[in-house]
Amino acid sequence: MIRQPDAVVIGSGGLGASTAFHLAQRGRRVALLDRHDIGSQTSPRAAGMVNCVRKSDLMITLIKIACEKIRRFSADTGQPLDWVHSGSLKVARRPQDTEVIAGDVARGRRMGLDVAQISPEEASRLNPFLRPDGICAVMRVGDDMYFDPSQVAVGFARSAADHGAILLPHTRVTRVLIDQGQVTGVATDRGTILAPVVVDAAGAWTREIAEASGLRVPLVPTGQQLFITEPVEGARPDLPMVRIMDAAVYLRPCDGGFLWGVYEEKPRFFEMQALGLGFHMKDMPLDAQVLWRAAEDVRVQLPVLLQAGVREHRGGIPTMTADGQHILGPAPGIDGFYFASGCNVAGLSISPALGELLAAWIVEGEPPIDLTPLSVARFGDSSWTEEQLRNDAAWQYRHFYGAA
Ligand SMILES: Cc1cc2nc3c(=O)[nH]c(=O)nc-3n(C[C@H](O)[C@H](O)[C@H](O)COP(=O)(O)OP(=O)(O)OC[C@H]3O[C@@H](n4cnc5c(N)ncnc54)[C@H](O)[C@@H]3O)c2cc1C
Repeated sequence: MIRQPDAVVIGSGGLGASTAFHLAQRGRRVALLDRHDIGSQTSPRAAGMVNCVRKSDLMITLIKIACEKIRRFSADTGQPLDWVHSGSLKVARRPQDTEVIAGDVARGRRMGLDVAQISPEEASRLNPFLRPDGICAVMRVGDDMYFDPSQVAVGFARSAADHGAILLPHTRVTRVLIDQGQVTGVATDRGTILAPVVVDAAGAWTREIAEASGLRVPLVPTGQQLFITEPVEGARPDLPMVRIMDAAVYLRPCDGGFLWGVYEEKPRFFEMQALGLGFHMKDMPLDAQVLWRAAEDVRVQLPVLLQAGVREHRGGIPTMTADGQHILGPAPGIDGFYFASGCNVAGLSISPALGELLAAWIVEGEPPIDLTPLSVARFGDSSWTEEQLRNDAAWQYRHFYGAA
């Protein structure tokens, strides 16, 4: 057991486990703590889809790094990761969204991605479960892929342990200890651990830990759920994933059927403290009607959603920010306090890149590339109201695919 690690990482989801792995790989003595089992909360409940055409050049750069690391995951960590390079189809059903598609194609090309605008008929040929009716424009993204979400956090954590990190499941951090502007460790329900660096990667609980330590961070825990269907004839694993912009519906092949979900208009926000100390993601309240309404919305383009039986219904609580960007890097004014959070329902796919960059930042004192747009300092003096934050977060959630 490491008595006094170089760093404590709070939370063993994709973001925390990746950070712990990359710190351990750099020779740092790391303790990775989780209130539950390792990698057991939101991360394994994700869809596991990678979306390369993001809204900014920085995000595209980061997701390209992540894709490369997903492909190399088993070689780098010695742990399994099943992934499929399926590509994807982003679908506009309204004239105003065709302009967004044109902008996406231009940005993607400039950033070296394999993107093209194709006809609705060509899209339907690539994935026959997508009907061409009522479609104005489609972007094909050759770089997109999907992976098994249950393998990422656990794989990083196991490999971190192989590199000397200590894993402490069922250890709940109650606050980060700070003395005269310097982190000194964490208080947990199993005692104190002293360390000069602490990473708050507690997912839906990130904000609770920060606030217990005297820091306000603008994140909203937000429910997201999906269905996995029974096997469907013809649902090959290499069929391109589908995203329908205005409906914010997504679909990908999964175990002989499909996995699909939606970013609904009025997302459900959660107060983590109100859910109680023992709350586990498997107990998250689900609402199948949200998904059935989405299936009705896209019944012309994706009739399979209403036809296929449901084998699994699951959900988790990602965190949204007001500007839809992640929160990564040091807390202003407190030496040794770092965040890896604000996943915006896209944190698992990018976690291999964010964990590596944060580890480099902690070890070398600065990030290898400019990550200012992800810094918590961008939110200024914390004068935002809860209502503002929730309104902006709800907009970002619904508009994840950039619908006008
Ligand atoms: C239905 C659904 C679909 C999604 N689809 C995708 C997708 O296609 N692509 C994608 O990239 N992302 C997707 N996401 C989002 C993705 O799951 C998240 O971005 C990612 O898993 C966030 O990882 P995390 O490490 O922040 O959180 P978590 O995985 O929740 O990890 C946080 C950990 O912190 C621990 N913790 C909390 N408080 C404490 C404490 N006080 N002390 C110790 N430990 C603590 C928790 O127990 C937990 O294990 C989806 C999410 C859902 C729910």
